[in-house]
Amino acid sequence: MTEIYDLIILGAGPAGISAAIYAVRAGLNTLWLDKTFAAGGQIVNTYEVDNYPGMPGMSGMELAEAMAAHAEKLGIAPVRENVRSVEADGDTGVKIVRTKKNEYRAKTVILALGAAHRTLDVPGESELAGMGVSYCATCDGAFFKDRTCVVVGGGNVAVEDAVFLARICKKVYVVHRRDRLRADGILQERLFACENVEMIWDSVVLAIEGTEQVTAVQVRNVKSGETQTLEADGVFIAVGIVPNTKLLEGFVRLDENGYVIAGEEGITSAPGVFAAGDIRTKALRQVVTAVSDGANAVASVQKYLSR
Ligand code: NAP
Repeated sequence: MTEIYDLIILGAGPAGISAAIYAVRAGLNTLWLDKTFAAGGQIVNTYEVDNYPGMPGMSGMELAEAMAAHAEKLGIAPVRENVRSVEADGDTGVKIVRTKKNEYRAKTVILALGAAHRTLDVPGESELAGMGVSYCATCDGAFFKDRTCVVVGGGNVAVEDAVFLARICKKVYVVHRRDRLRADGILQERLFACENVEMIWDSVVLAIEGTEQVTAVQVRNVKSGETQTLEADGVFIAVGIVPNTKLLEGFVRLDENGYVIAGEEGITSAPGVFAAGDIRTKALRQVVTAVSDGANAVASVQKYLSR
């Protein structure tokens, strides 16, 4: 007979890791799935996580490894499988999770699939991906030592990327569509202290140029309408995130931006299905809120199972 788990956790970012730790400590028969080799989700691409209490200045990779090691020490590790679909059996309510290789069943599911980077959808972006166009400064920044790079965006990620690149590159342009950054004040101060960073305010990217490698970025000032060409060897795009919820359409209710509608307890529109981390509707998407989501979701699972 097919095993029915108490809980299947989808995703091994901070929310999923935290859920796994709480689930194993609660004695739940848990299966944990993630598509990647390294647990940690988006933080593995973060140079420095400076606001997680007790871990000042730790790199995202180090924090992810420490969290995953904690789970492993308690006896749980993610199984590397890419989830294709999630549904509930109409008669029993049992959740069915399908991957490429397997079909799993559980009484409850925690959706901690996180989010992925948004694209600009301009000419040259997909054609030059990996040839100067990148979405991860900490992964690819070292290739641009003493070169010129453009960072696009005005949030925490864009500003952190620009500060990181300013240490490596000769020159960094930051192209932002408004005249004010969205990033936290402390990050803005660090950015404005970098002498080799030039802000290109009120501007959007029209195209990324190059044949085998990025050579320039065409931008347009949205107020004056003027265009200019920034000669550059690399473009780091950091214009926000989109939730990984494509496969959940029709299964749980999503908001207009695709996030799973769920409050602090992670309760979604589908009974026995809970959401944790960047995937859910919330005001602040940070590691610290993701890990608390994981804990809350497991508390909700326990309540659901004992009803
Ligand atoms: P974000 O905060 O949503 O910022 C995205 C930036 O890209 C905004 O400045 C936005 O402009 C701009 N943008 C969006 N779409 C665009 C488009 N099509 N063309 C041009 N510009 C566009 O995203 P993020 O920086 O990736 O951060 C994601 C989440 O992780 C956030 O919740 C963030 O706070 C969190 N995070 C936190 C930390 C930290 O606390 N240290 C570090 C990293 C990430 P507007 O400002 O005009 O909207």
